[in-house]
Amino acid sequence: VGKYLKEIETKANLNAFVEVYKDYALARAKEIDQKLSEGKAGKLAGMVIGIKDVLCFKDHQVNASSKILEGFQSQFSCTAVERLIQEDAIIIGRLNCDEFGMGSSNENSVHGPVLNARDHERVPGGSSGGSAVAVQAGLCMASLGTDTGGSVRQPAAFTGVVGMKPTYSRISRWGLIAYASSFDTIGIFSRNISDNALIMEVIAGEDEKDSTVSQTPVPKYSQELNLTRKVKVACLRETLDSEALSEEIRAKTEEVIQNLKREGHTVELTDFPLLKYVLPTYYILTTAEASANLSRFDGVKYGYRTPNAHNFESMYKLTRAEGFGEEVKRRIMLGTFVLSASYHDAYFTKAQKVRRLIKEQTEELFGKYDYIIMPTTPTTAFKFGEHSGDPVAMYLEDLYTVQASVSGTPAISIPNGEDSNGMPIGLQIISNSFKEAELYAFSDYLM
Ligand code: GLN
Repeated sequence: VGKYLKEIETKANLNAFVEVYKDYALARAKEIDQKLSEGKAGKLAGMVIGIKDVLCFKDHQVNASSKILEGFQSQFSCTAVERLIQEDAIIIGRLNCDEFGMGSSNENSVHGPVLNARDHERVPGGSSGGSAVAVQAGLCMASLGTDTGGSVRQPAAFTGVVGMKPTYSRISRWGLIAYASSFDTIGIFSRNISDNALIMEVIAGEDEKDSTVSQTPVPKYSQELNLTRKVKVACLRETLDSEALSEEIRAKTEEVIQNLKREGHTVELTDFPLLKYVLPTYYILTTAEASANLSRFDGVKYGYRTPNAHNFESMYKLTRAEGFGEEVKRRIMLGTFVLSASYHDAYFTKAQKVRRLIKEQTEELFGKYDYIIMPTTPTTAFKFGEHSGDPVAMYLEDLYTVQASVSGTPAISIPNGEDSNGMPIGLQIISNSFKEAELYAFSDYLM
């Protein structure tokens, strides 16, 4: 803990941590030392873990990187955090992110941007940018983020670490501040697969506090890391043909395909014509859900309340006008629009139907293949400000990550070399729902 606290201090300019639980972490370390000497320590004894600023931790602040939650302290802990602590992990601090998880560059944060440790002029990705950089820069061993449309996988790719988004409903969402509830998942950043798998087996599984969480038993992922057979892999033609894909990333992905074939695995190019509808479907449905979820922030129940109001109604309006950032407001307006009486069927209902098709056709692929592989992102980490004036260009960054989010399937990003600027490239692997064990084993094999 001492070593990490020192690293956090010397690399404070990265702005990954927004709060460090120094005294708490040191006290916990002492406690766990004691337990270790008595042979009573938990599975994660001594693992030092940071958590994204959307995960509640009892008696600590949580802001979702938003002014609207300024000063808000949680009265309970998120189930995932609770389970980490039960197994003697040490929670070392709270990590910066895009406001309410909305963004792909960590530029939408009330705490300011996080710097990519590889090149300080470039973004770390988002929305879990702080969680990614904390692991990249060695400020903690692993971290929790959340992934609604790529927020764990994309920053993992931009920083050269492992980022895992499990099946939707694999991990309880209790205590996770909602962005889009039918997409939100907690995810894990680590340097290697075995740490990631071990944390997953601790935090996944049934929880009476979240009625949507799956009751499917949780395997011992960390003990199933051996790939024992030849596998069948699909590569979607549309992902490699996309104009948005950088040449260097395409070449690196093709290299993986060639290597797999050489090693006796099957890799086939297949068509997935729905790919072009995945991003619009995602942004229609998530903004709709966000507009509903964020209605609870009204100056009454949580955090910030405007000092400028003169009556009840202006208190609501001004609190929200002053408390939410630009991107969050844009999404609340988009979401309210697609849910409005005259456009509901044209947008929201239509998008729900398309989501079903995307899910079915993705699952159909898993009748024939064990995995789908594709780049995690069309480009490597871009420079600050490059996309901030153009929301659509920013949304395009999520081109490859949203398919697994829309279909609820698990997906992981692992490092796959770097580009000519020395920026990390990510490879994404997707499997069928609840096949996390297979996903980890194949990823470990590839790394
Ligand atoms: N960049 C995507 C968005 O802004 C994904 C965010 C996320 O997964 N939380 O919605």
